[in-house]
Amino acid sequence: MSSSTQISAPQSMRTFRVLPFTPPPGASGLRQQVRAFLADNMPPTDAPYRANSWTVGDREFSRKLGQAGYIAMIWPKQYGGHERHPLERYIVLEELLAAGAPVGMHWIADRQSGPLILRFGTEKQRMMFLPRIAAGELFGCIGMSEPGSGSDLASVRTRAIRDGDGWRVSGQKVWTTNAHNAGLMIALLRTGEPGGRQEGLTQFLIDLTAPGVTVRPIIDLAGGHDFNEVFFDDLFIPDDMRVGAEGDGWKQVTAELSLERSGPERYMSCFALFLEMVRRAGPTPDAAMTALIGRLSAEMWTLRHMSMSTAAQLAAGNDPTLEAAIVKDLGNSFEQELPRLVQAAADADLDLSSNEDLARLLALLLQISPSFSLRGGTREILRGIIARSLGLR
Ligand SMILES: Cc1cc2nc3c(=O)[nH]c(=O)nc-3n(C[C@H](O)[C@H](O)[C@H](O)COP(=O)(O)OP(=O)(O)OC[C@H]3O[C@@H](n4cnc5c(N)ncnc54)[C@H](O)[C@@H]3O)c2cc1C
Repeated sequence: MSSSTQISAPQSMRTFRVLPFTPPPGASGLRQQVRAFLADNMPPTDAPYRANSWTVGDREFSRKLGQAGYIAMIWPKQYGGHERHPLERYIVLEELLAAGAPVGMHWIADRQSGPLILRFGTEKQRMMFLPRIAAGELFGCIGMSEPGSGSDLASVRTRAIRDGDGWRVSGQKVWTTNAHNAGLMIALLRTGEPGGRQEGLTQFLIDLTAPGVTVRPIIDLAGGHDFNEVFFDDLFIPDDMRVGAEGDGWKQVTAELSLERSGPERYMSCFALFLEMVRRAGPTPDAAMTALIGRLSAEMWTLRHMSMSTAAQLAAGNDPTLEAAIVKDLGNSFEQELPRLVQAAADADLDLSSNEDLARLLALLLQISPSFSLRGGTREILRGIIARSLGLR
């Protein structure tokens, strides 16, 4: 694209911005390097593990990615980063997801926890956490949701109370992905309530091995263990593990959500199924299969363009809250529709124990894909953000 495209709207409305972006020089060489890395290092995985692989964890694989410079790619070198271009990072993520690589162990820390510490953390916090995240040795989790506070995040009740040179915390987080593997949680806690509810919130860096923290698994309906309940019982958090100023939590969380919502993982969770369907269709698919492959490829290509443009906006220092919400909403709709379309088109069983990769992938993704439009903000919440950003409510 040679110039910026805008979807027009009445004057008072914000518009959807598609920023021009040019792949950085050497982008195709980088793609080849990642493929070569994967050929040498990708652990043997059963087909279902290649689906939704950004939630599938492998410590050793994450450590190898860290050594190869594929984590913390855009962070400053002084914190273990590699000062690469954000679109180079995008290319690496895309290749890893397309191969179904198990990147779940470090995904949250690389995408979200690290950038948050980089932006709002102190020098001490940066030195303490970022190099270990970059090395693929320290993993993170997001402590936002609580029982009764999911969509309405501003209503979190777990309270941090001042105690000498720190804070005491008792309460509970829920649906915490990766807490059973992570050493670090960034938790949104209530530290006061002056004025509106959004004002009394502060984020803290919590050592999940500290006394007073208990992590309990939640097993999902497909039998997987991705998320957890995390309980705090009189946990002490030193004040130097507070992120930014007291009361700045809401501002930080909203900045973080654009990072969480706009990446390629928001439309590639079913890519392994798509590949398997194409493989099975062979070189001469019938007319209906040709049409389906064409339709899904075109939708993916469009989503990719929107997602990369949002990455370019983040890199340019813009606030793409609207664009990120649209990418996630459309991306999740695509990811949820894909298994249903494959089920209708391909003559495959739905059986997690089948010998056929297609049947196992389909069975898994039909079970777990309803959750894709819950994690990271539900469809209704995203559409509310979109409507507000466009001046429609
Ligand atoms: C796979 C997965 C992983 C997750 N990982 C994490 C994690 O790592 N860390 C974390 O903190 N959380 C995590 N979550 C939690 C997730 O963020 C919440 O499930 C989500 O925000 C919805 O909150 P809730 O479950 O409390 O539902 P509720 O907020 O109770 O919503 C229930 C329904 O009501 C609708 N609704 C609610 N409010 C409104 C409104 N104002 N207008 C219109 N409709 C509304 C919702 O859209 C939804 O359909 C995860 C969830 C899933 C499914």
